[in-house]
Amino acid sequence: MNLDYIKQLDSENVIQNYARYNVAFKKGSGSLLYDTEGKEYIDFASGIGVISVGHANPHWVKAVSEQAGRLAHVSNLFYTQPYAVLAERLIKLSGMKAAFFANSGAEANEGAIKIARKYSNDKYGDGRYTIITLNQSFHGRTMATLTATGQPAHHKYFHPFVEGFKYVPPNDIKALTDALDEKVCAVMVEGIQGEGGVNPLEQDYVKELVKIISERDVLLILDEVQTGIGRTGDMFCFQGLDIKPDIVTLAKGLGGGVPIAAVLVNDKCKDILSHGTHGTTYGGNLICCAAANAVLDIVTEPRFLDQVKAKGEKIKETVKGWNSPLIKEVRGKGLMIGIQLKDLGPKKAVADLLDRGLVTLTAGTDVLRLLPPLTITEEEIEKGLEIIRDYLIKK
Ligand SMILES: *Cc1c(COP(=O)(O)O)cnc(C)c1O
Repeated sequence: MNLDYIKQLDSENVIQNYARYNVAFKKGSGSLLYDTEGKEYIDFASGIGVISVGHANPHWVKAVSEQAGRLAHVSNLFYTQPYAVLAERLIKLSGMKAAFFANSGAEANEGAIKIARKYSNDKYGDGRYTIITLNQSFHGRTMATLTATGQPAHHKYFHPFVEGFKYVPPNDIKALTDALDEKVCAVMVEGIQGEGGVNPLEQDYVKELVKIISERDVLLILDEVQTGIGRTGDMFCFQGLDIKPDIVTLAKGLGGGVPIAAVLVNDKCKDILSHGTHGTTYGGNLICCAAANAVLDIVTEPRFLDQVKAKGEKIKETVKGWNSPLIKEVRGKGLMIGIQLKDLGPKKAVADLLDRGLVTLTAGTDVLRLLPPLTITEEEIEKGLEIIRDYLIKK
């Protein structure tokens, strides 16, 4: 099928809730993508930070196909080895105490919200349920996670939203302290806001936040759906921030291309969800757990994360070195990088770069976001950056 035919099928049969770019991808290999018309692209997006170990990574393909040929699904009413092994590995890597698997970032965050509220309900009774989140945050599209998302533009159409959420500006301790009344049970933040514009939280702010809320037994939920599993050059973003959250959520990069998400909890929260209080049919099915285990095999190889850090630094230094009048700021960590533009809309930039053979993403209102596969080669990085540089210079 060619692009025009696929577009026709889509426009006639698909709910049009996405404004898609004018490309249909057909196959991928490493950090390269190929469309239906045979054109090659360098992938600086990896889905949206999902293809953590590259497209069709041979180790990942082997693990997924072997598991598919052995056993795909039996439900969570039974023990399975990939589930138990993945949980053990994530617990060891994170220093958390127990894991639960879901299917998407939003679902992991739903789970985290439920755990935080039940923790508080068990210990303090009714009424202590408020979750504080940050302006410009993004936590998902289900009713509760959409409510948690601190962007008024998302709080339309779907009323009534879920009760018990409050928003404060990031990196502002006073605003946080003012919002901390006796009804608050948790604070939920991203270490680096992804969708909101690649906005890192300041280390001092995070440390102070942890101190203030832990004194009140208010839980910290760290949404690592985008930052987790090596994306920022640390296995988890919270390790780079040198803090210990109570609950961590993971999704995007964890499965390397198949839907799996995780909620990791510390000692305080490990016995909150008892039999029957939460669940999901698909969560942690064998194929997805096998995929995530294969991702971890790769990301935990010696020096793998050092390479992620080095590649990220190289990208940031290179882009800063251009001194382009169209660039306002370059920020981010590891291979999660935001180029804040001026006088150039990021949507137009992404579409133009796609024409030139490079896949990128937008973030916030004015940021070009780069989330390449963690396995991208130096040469592919150089080629991709050349495309961006040529484009910005000829503008
Ligand atoms: C993408 C994202 C989500 C939502 O994940 P889905 O899998 O789309 O539900 C939640 N939080 C953050 C930080 C994200 O980047």
